[in-house]
Amino acid sequence: MYGVVTRNEGELHWPAFDTAFFEAKSVSGRAEQPQPDVVNMVSCFADNATARDSPALVPVSETGERATREQPYFDWAHICPTHDRYREGVLATIEECVAVSPDLRLDDVGFPRPEYCHCDRCNQKFGDSDYTDRFAWRQSVIKSFLQDVRDIVPGRLYLTLYPDPYPGHLQKRTGIDPTALDMIDEFVVPIYDMAYSTTYWLESLAKGFVSRLKTPFSIELYAVDVDVDALGHATTVAQAYAKDVLFGYDASNAQATIRRLDADARDGKSFSHT
Ligand SMILES: [Zn+2]
Repeated sequence: MYGVVTRNEGELHWPAFDTAFFEAKSVSGRAEQPQPDVVNMVSCFADNATARDSPALVPVSETGERATREQPYFDWAHICPTHDRYREGVLATIEECVAVSPDLRLDDVGFPRPEYCHCDRCNQKFGDSDYTDRFAWRQSVIKSFLQDVRDIVPGRLYLTLYPDPYPGHLQKRTGIDPTALDMIDEFVVPIYDMAYSTTYWLESLAKGFVSRLKTPFSIELYAVDVDVDALGHATTVAQAYAKDVLFGYDASNAQATIRRLDADARDGKSFSHT
């Protein structure tokens, strides 16, 4: 099956796509009107607007580095997952989404990187907890957030994962242990490239997730301005491992790629995996 990931309402119901994901709240922090009959997507702990307006909500490392776009390894600003009022706001946004459409996808869940968060509130909460291992405590924070979300999402619940299947890496990085989250129905792994001129690394990552996960997962490919043949190759590789293939942010190019694949399948042609 194929899906589209978009921020444009007009692209949500094209016949080429079996499912559609709509960006109801993006990393910009801006919320759009949730859409019916689609999977609405909510960026949870990435929010540039909130970080700008409420700097105290930005996670800090032990050495005082803030998790914002000023750091070379962050493309957007993060928000500390232990801030109760912000969490309530995210849950309220999710409630608005599922009132319109029962399925929901969570983006940007977790701590920004292993060295976060050492804000006063996190230090206090960790100190007050029963945990001695800070990474185990971080996992409990994320798991309880996901449980709160599960309680209010009546439909299928998706969670986006950073594309690192190596055992232990995701837990250390974000606090997500994808093998211990039975409240999630499906993971989405974005594996983005601007060209997909080679695909061996896509196959390695996809295979790694097959080895790790019992929960179904789909792969999201980047479709913007990618050559249709190259995107077709990447799609074929991803399809061999993932439940569905989703295409990000260029519905026209994605549709052209699906049509090409369908035509080739009718002609008996197939893409090689090399
Ligand atoms: Zn914190």
